[in-house]
Amino acid sequence: MTSLAHFEAVAGSLKLPGEAVIDGKLRASASGKTFPNVTPRNGRVLNHIAQCDVADVDAAVKSARRAFEEGQWRKSHYRDKKRVLFKLADLMRRDAEQLAVLESLDVGKPITDALKVDIPGSIRTIAYYAEALDKIYGEVGPEAPDRFSFAVHEPLGVVAAIVPWNFPLLMAMWKIAPALAMGNSVILKPAEQSPLTALKIGELALEAGLPPGVLNVVPGFGAEAGKALALHNDVDMIAFTGSGAVGKLLMQYSGQSNLKRVSLELGGKSPHIIFADCPDLDKAATQAAWGIFYNSGQVCTAGSRLLVQQDVADQFVDRLLAVARKIVAGDPLEPATTTGSMASEEQMKTALRYIETAKREGDALALGGNRTRTDSGGFYVEPTVFDQVKPENTLAREEVFGPVLAVTRFKDPDDAIRIANDTNYGLAAGLWTKDISLAHRAAREIRAGLVWINGWDSCDLTMPFGGFKQSGFGRDRSLHALHKYADLKSVSITL
Ligand code: NAD
Repeated sequence: MTSLAHFEAVAGSLKLPGEAVIDGKLRASASGKTFPNVTPRNGRVLNHIAQCDVADVDAAVKSARRAFEEGQWRKSHYRDKKRVLFKLADLMRRDAEQLAVLESLDVGKPITDALKVDIPGSIRTIAYYAEALDKIYGEVGPEAPDRFSFAVHEPLGVVAAIVPWNFPLLMAMWKIAPALAMGNSVILKPAEQSPLTALKIGELALEAGLPPGVLNVVPGFGAEAGKALALHNDVDMIAFTGSGAVGKLLMQYSGQSNLKRVSLELGGKSPHIIFADCPDLDKAATQAAWGIFYNSGQVCTAGSRLLVQQDVADQFVDRLLAVARKIVAGDPLEPATTTGSMASEEQMKTALRYIETAKREGDALALGGNRTRTDSGGFYVEPTVFDQVKPENTLAREEVFGPVLAVTRFKDPDDAIRIANDTNYGLAAGLWTKDISLAHRAAREIRAGLVWINGWDSCDLTMPFGGFKQSGFGRDRSLHALHKYADLKSVSITL
């Protein structure tokens, strides 16, 4: 049943969403313009998407503001908010296979990953914040004899979520779910490369009973729809996941408009450190390989810098290469595929450009390095490993966002921690050691928002997610994310 033919049949039978969701209605863009949505699976155009610009954004903001002021959502009983959000989770469960196929087609992600990771993770996220929303308490101030003071969390108003293309639905859910749970109105701007699941969620939210205007979806280009949201004087917050370059622009747009809040989840160049006393070299080698090659390396927390202690470096790199050789890019809709295409032709070209730079700078190519599956017409790159990469070389410093690993060898723990911190980024880090003191010392000294010990990417929705340094600020996931979408109001009564 779950064969390539099955998923191709599902893809063929789907009505692909292409219209914006504004004020509770599916709409063409005000200008009537559309843009082609290409699948990186074979380079063909899937459908045409409404190209929203300033006019559509303005309509979405007006609708979101009206919904917020009227308060059908904001002022509703917490029981009703929960019911609607749980209904949305149910509808996503009902349509999970369709959502997975849309995600796989849109970004070239293996269908099995979409079915097992992206879609269930997105459903869990909405259910988690639905469960949490009636467990948010305010505070009572210290006692003064003639006063009673308390602090309450209030929604911000209109929140715009601008998200990237690597985990389109999951990144959207990490923002939409806590923002809605706090009572805000939301405008979602998906990446132009991957609008399908965002548009589908806009439709499902209406079916679940979210009042018109509470969740709007405006597909379009960053420099048009995204910029219009970020410069809009009636948007209270931009919740962003994407590149550092755009993150910096958003801060400027905020300053040029209404000083809207900005939260930024940006890129990374995350170090994965193998100390000589690694408890299990085979397990670490498998996780180091998947830590970079999962989702074709298009993961903000990808372990793109592998730091290996000299004493075990040769044997560790051999084991890693043995795992990596088995990771072969395949058709994203084939259930046996473990790694698909890159998300776009542009991203494939970026990865190939970095591979050429690494060769030019003298990094030692140990595996891969080429485009693959060219006959398919899609955008595939082989898992690629460079060994003996100097910490000052481009591949050790810049985020590729592709399946390209830089291996650097180090002498001792101080050396490892120094190299790990020698970066503008600070999103994630991993380390393998049996020495509990070293594990704690390294975890403390590494400047990153996430540190994983003896297991890569080992925490989930219950733990905060976000970066130090130029990996951004503000946290997704966990109960902390709720407070990002609220203001704190102090109320004081003189008795
Ligand atoms: P990007 O910054 O180019 O685009 C992200 C979003 O911003 C898209 O929706 C795009 O349309 C929009 N955008 C582009 N220009 C804009 C502008 N001038 N004004 C407003 N919006 C604009 O990033 P990308 O290439 O789509 O994604 C890759 C980046 O995202 C990588 O750097 C990656 O590390 C990062 N990322 C970070 C996380 C995290 O949680 N930290 C997660 C996933 C991806």
